[in-house]
Amino acid sequence: MMQSVPHTDSKLWLKITLGMVLGLVLGLILSPSGLKLIDPYHAIEFGRWIALPGIIFLGMLKMIVVPLIISSIVLGIIASGNTAFLKNMGIRIIPYFLITTFIAISIGVTAINIIDPAQYMDSTIAEQTMATTDEPYALFDELSIPDRIENIIPTNFTQASLEKNMLQIVIASIILGIIMLSLPKATYEPFEKLCEFGQAASMKVIEWAMVLAPYAVFGIMTKITIQLGLESIIGVGAYVLTVLFSLGGLLIFYLLIVSILGKRSPIEFIQAAKEAQLFAFSTSSSAATMPFTLKAAEENLKIKEKVSRFIIPLGATINMDGTALYQAVAALFLCSLFGVNLTTGEIFLLMITTVGASIGTPATPGVGIIVLATILSGIGVPPEGIGIILGVDRLLDMCRTTLNVTGDLVASTVMDRWMK
Ligand code: ASP
Repeated sequence: MMQSVPHTDSKLWLKITLGMVLGLVLGLILSPSGLKLIDPYHAIEFGRWIALPGIIFLGMLKMIVVPLIISSIVLGIIASGNTAFLKNMGIRIIPYFLITTFIAISIGVTAINIIDPAQYMDSTIAEQTMATTDEPYALFDELSIPDRIENIIPTNFTQASLEKNMLQIVIASIILGIIMLSLPKATYEPFEKLCEFGQAASMKVIEWAMVLAPYAVFGIMTKITIQLGLESIIGVGAYVLTVLFSLGGLLIFYLLIVSILGKRSPIEFIQAAKEAQLFAFSTSSSAATMPFTLKAAEENLKIKEKVSRFIIPLGATINMDGTALYQAVAALFLCSLFGVNLTTGEIFLLMITTVGASIGTPATPGVGIIVLATILSGIGVPPEGIGIILGVDRLLDMCRTTLNVTGDLVASTVMDRWMK
């Protein structure tokens, strides 16, 4: 039987939590804005060394992202058994993904309108940033819709994997899976076996990486806290709080979906999801968390494999409500800081653009903010504005990834009920 979920130490989540807390404490002690025990240069250098297990850990996870996504989607589609089941699931899940992403963005937009974090910022920051850039910015001058559609067609698979263009990889994998379902088993069996090997091999790498996880999390946390220091968090504190507050709102929305549409207890759901959430928080990668998301769905939530094996690999790459919410909040925060006034229509357009942007954001650490840069240049904010929020991005990445992964589990819970 193929191995599709990793075997890990049952106390892993406890060790990871401990690593996180200890890292936070050590980071705060060593941070140049903390107790100033060592000079800033040595503190930063120390941070880089102590994060080494984390770099190896993340490197191992990045190594398997592409084979894991391809093999999981292909096997997920085959597990669904037939194209009719897949079609039924597809016509439900795509609107579900789009609607929940749009609602997540609306939560962020509402929060930013209420809190308006830019008013708590030093107004000269925007002027200083503007002074360093002289490029003109046009409103929504981005790629047209036909161009965008052309860009997601996987015309060159090698290039897509080279560039880690996850959307093209996902589409190619879906096409492959559907082709396999429509052929006699004898024709596709060798490729199915190859995918089983790809998935099992990825699980092995994850199991090895997991041995390092608590030390990796400790090191990464120490390094981030040293670099971040309390000052930079306080400087953009209102913005950070707005994102966290909105993500909290999104979590409440998810728990409502779990109980209303999924007919499950929200408390049991959180219990079942906690290991995957913690893993998402510490790795900032929905793709690397995927095996744990699958484990939470199948072993804890008892979701049908037919459902989880399709929804989770797909959701890990295209369903990113936390990222979408974050991108919208960050974009509107910077608009307000740079004095760019958007009309209601433009805000709506921004929301739609963000739904698309979050779908195209690869499920790896720190990319949400890079995609944000393209959104910004489209709405008249200099992408350099990102510099203002870059310092706290890793922290917010950890939080939004946790919500991204939670969203995939919520979607699987709902689909499990709908696909009875
Ligand atoms: N790190 C996120 C994820 O993997 C993507 C992002 O940067 O927002 O889900």
